[in-house]
Amino acid sequence: MDLSALITRGFDTTDQALWLAVVDQGACSVGPLTPDDWYPESAPAEAARREAAGALSVCAACPVRAECLELALRNWTVGQHGVWGGTVPAERERLRTGRVAQLTRVLSRNRNAELAAPRGTC
Ligand code: SF4
Repeated sequence: MDLSALITRGFDTTDQALWLAVVDQGACSVGPLTPDDWYPESAPAEAARREAAGALSVCAACPVRAECLELALRNWTVGQHGVWGGTVPAERERLRTGRVAQLTRVLSRNRNAELAAPRGTC
């Protein structure tokens, strides 16, 4: 199953609306940081947060932090890299894993409820 499709199911804000908000209001669109400042090299979260401290401080004051994080989780091809929504890749990987597990439980519960429901006779 395509995990991206599973992750986006059930959320009513479109990717387009999220992108518009982030592009329009993202605090990272201006400032003195270079692109490299947004891409920590270390994989462990703690080390990555140290390396990306400047970028993370920009995110901390960003008005569209939640939207940015949601985009990263939905668009994993790009969202798995760099800083998004005040998080580093290892943190988003944990969030994504938790979300997939939660959605899988919901889908499984719904499927079981459908199977247990009485069927019509027409
Ligand atoms: S949360 Fe961070 S990466 Fe996302 S738009 Fe805001 S400043 Fe940019």
